Amino acid sequence: MNIRKLLIANRGEIARRIVRAAQEMGIRTVAVYSDADATAPHVLEADEAVRIGPPPVNESYLRIDAILAAAQATDADAIHPGYGFLAENANFARAVRQAGRIFVGPPPEAIEAMGDKAAARRLMQAAGVPVVPGYQGPDDDASLRQAAASLGYPVLLKAAAGGGGKGMRIVQTPEELAEAAAAARREAEHAFGDPRLILEKYIPRARHVEVQILADSHGQILHLYERECSVQRRYQKIIEETPSPFVDEELRQRMTQAARKAAQAVGYVNAGTVEFIVDPRDRSFYFLEMNTRLQVEHPITEALLGLDLVQWQLRIAAGEKLPWQQPDLQPRGHAIEARVYAEDPATGFLPSTGQLLAVHEPQRPGVRVDSGVRAGLEVTAYYDPLLAKIIAWAETREQALARLRTALRQTSYLGVVTNIPFLLDVLAHPDFRAGQYFTRWVDEALMPWSPEAAEELPAEVLAALALARELGAEARPGLGEPASEQPGPWYRLHGWWP
Ligand code: ADP
Ligand code: ADP
Ligand code: MG
Repeated sequence: MNIRKLLIANRGEIARRIVRAAQEMGIRTVAVYSDADATAPHVLEADEAVRIGPPPVNESYLRIDAILAAAQATDADAIHPGYGFLAENANFARAVRQAGRIFVGPPPEAIEAMGDKAAARRLMQAAGVPVVPGYQGPDDDASLRQAAASLGYPVLLKAAAGGGGKGMRIVQTPEELAEAAAAARREAEHAFGDPRLILEKYIPRARHVEVQILADSHGQILHLYERECSVQRRYQKIIEETPSPFVDEELRQRMTQAARKAAQAVGYVNAGTVEFIVDPRDRSFYFLEMNTRLQVEHPITEALLGLDLVQWQLRIAAGEKLPWQQPDLQPRGHAIEARVYAEDPATGFLPSTGQLLAVHEPQRPGVRVDSGVRAGLEVTAYYDPLLAKIIAWAETREQALARLRTALRQTSYLGVVTNIPFLLDVLAHPDFRAGQYFTRWVDEALMPWSPEAAEELPAEVLAALALARELGAEARPGLGEPASEQPGPWYRLHGWWP
């Protein structure tokens, strides 16, 4: 292993998760942080930490120069970008290489080839990977209207430079097109500095199924099965599971082969994900995009296969060969992840900010918590409102679901509004239990949503918290202070919380 020290160009739960993987391999870790994160867990847990700037991302986590300077100052020989921020920035990957350091991710050319939705569609078409019927070309209103007419409505406008669901608009009729295109262009320009749009046929009641790829620098490309991510709000995932309740063995074969073909077409190395949209009417599937990085939902794949994807990313980046052939990778059981966000599902998922007064995260067999926070920390509007991911594994889907629901009922973040009650409603819904959901299912089946009981914590609970703090009592067993014999008053908080 030629990586002795790793700098993590990220924050929150993913930075902590990477620190953990590196520590287990005997690799020293360097965190970077903005002023908003000076005492965040990822900073405290890394071996070293370097301040890179004030809170806004443009002045800190997106600053290539500051991150390279931090690597130089600490003599880190590799940089892991995590996800978001600079993870899919080919210039960053290139700059890291030029500075003589290892970029833990794919070659910059692969990032570039997949970074533009228009170019990626062309490339995939040429490679024989099915893409959604669509249009990439001159994107003035007249051209778009003509393309939409020949595709047939409804159509979906997407930002060519897009990601994170930004710049997307469903268009139902020709009359709506111009206005939707103007809005999508504005959003794309604002988010990516690039207003170009593409058009795809909108597939109703579609499912989002993606395939995890792991490829080494010796030409071996393996797939790590699929993840179903159709439970979404605003085109963004909130619950993911594997295996997909929709995909049968025949479809799995076809999709995993197409994913390997896609990776091969761009000379892919390291961990990446090929996203597909599946039309449930005829089980046809189409390439959406390839995410050239680790994904938020990677832990469910790790649970299914019993391996550590970040450690394999590091080994691949260091030039090691994958020790398996495809038949060696046999999945076991079922895994589900829920993303816990500081956001309010009752107000259209608006982010919620504030100080975390108390944090209670579950510790149970078969449950993994990837958290980025701790009590006392401020949740600000500067960054993504993801607080933690709760992942449950069990032999069967039903058992995994039961584990996840139990774990979520024992999770609380006091001080901000979270989506936990909403997640519990999703998991309890008969459609979800039956595996019958699709990408707009949340909007159709659950919205508008409001918690059944009072949204506010009862005054008695707040009074008890204040009293417990005054008395120096435990907020919960194991919260930084020595665990007491008696569980604190927050142990059963979900009895109070709708
Ligand atoms: P996943 O496919 O794993 O769910 P997402 O596409 O939701 O990942 O993105 C992962 C993270 O990266 C999120 O925090 C999201 O906000 C961020 N992100 C994704 N694409 C972009 C982008 N083009 N620019 C900035 N942030 C992005
Ligand atoms: P992003 O880069 O923002 O992640 P994607 O192309 O991956 O954009 O699409 C994000 C989500 O939008 C998908 O998971 C799906 O819910 C929806 N979507 C994308 N393309 C289509 C389509 N052609 N038809 C129906 N839904 C789509
Ligand atoms: Mg996507």
